[in-house]
Amino acid sequence: MSELRPDRRTVLAGSMAAAGTLLTAATGTSASAAEGAATSAGVPDTGTHVVTLGTAAGPAVRSPRQGIATAVVVDGNLYVVDTGLGVVRQIAEAELPTNRLRAILLTHLHSDHIAELPAMLLYNWGPQVDGFTEPFEVVGPAGAGALPKGYRPAVSPPTPGTREVVNNILDSYAYDVNIRISDEGRPPLDDLVRPREIQLPGGLSAGPRSRLAPEMEPIEVYSDDRVRVLAALVNHPPVFPSYGYRIETPDGVIALSGDTTEHPNVVTLARDADVLVHESVYLDYYRKLGKSADFIDHLSGSHTDPAGTGRVAAKAGVGHLVLSHLAGVATDEQWTAPVRKKYGGRVTVANDGQVFSL
Ligand SMILES: [Zn+2]
Ligand SMILES: [Zn+2]
Repeated sequence: MSELRPDRRTVLAGSMAAAGTLLTAATGTSASAAEGAATSAGVPDTGTHVVTLGTAAGPAVRSPRQGIATAVVVDGNLYVVDTGLGVVRQIAEAELPTNRLRAILLTHLHSDHIAELPAMLLYNWGPQVDGFTEPFEVVGPAGAGALPKGYRPAVSPPTPGTREVVNNILDSYAYDVNIRISDEGRPPLDDLVRPREIQLPGGLSAGPRSRLAPEMEPIEVYSDDRVRVLAALVNHPPVFPSYGYRIETPDGVIALSGDTTEHPNVVTLARDADVLVHESVYLDYYRKLGKSADFIDHLSGSHTDPAGTGRVAAKAGVGHLVLSHLAGVATDEQWTAPVRKKYGGRVTVANDGQVFSL
């Protein structure tokens, strides 16, 4: 499942880079978008590795990139952050060890982050598909408690948290689950999937109609014998709560911004991290599409432009900034030029299936 195949990976990476260079030179279009469909399979079952499974933002298909999802593999144990469209196929193509799935971490409950959570649970379930057979946690936001002021609840209950999301998935697929447990001998799915909602510190003044992301010290939300996961609120109006994560492993630290504007809590989460996976938006792409000023304001008010990611990475002192959850299509140079003015470290525009080893 996770054999080391460095030769193939090296070859793939080399051919991808060459293809991207040729394409950019020939057409002037986005190398990063073109490369987004490529994958590199297999990670070693020792050490810590980050795999940018899917790198696209939003519930929209605008490029070959798959929906947002990032894997962290630590000594052959699998942790998955967000489950956007395509995550199941991307995990399979990267040959990640779903039989050693330890946790799924959800940053927030926007659909582009959880669209494929049902398939993640149902397509990796049991020894029949070489999937999970042991319990694992689905860590994510608790219910918001209320919609933002003035919002109309079209669907009720209006603000489910991670526990309800998971339970509702199991309820929706009850027939399949019940059939397969008896018919195929699969382990009881409801025993294996364990939702855990993040509880904010009692003294923290935050809420859906007040402060979405006050500055805070990260709180521990998950731990096992290999990793410790910390979370902090990030600023992604109008969503509450929206989290970023810090994953500490024996080999180093990975931080993930989640969906956010440029925010001090991301700096705290990413302090001295080896890798920071940060979201970004390329606003000129939307301006050229003729999107309304309101839509552009929404994007700039809830996401981070490339220069902002550079400032965060510089303040946090991270070793490697990886841009993902890319909103808009641009060339690698267009994404990274504003970053380099703010941050002198290593920066990469992630491709789908790209592996970053600590
Ligand atoms: Zn998103
Ligand atoms: Zn979002």
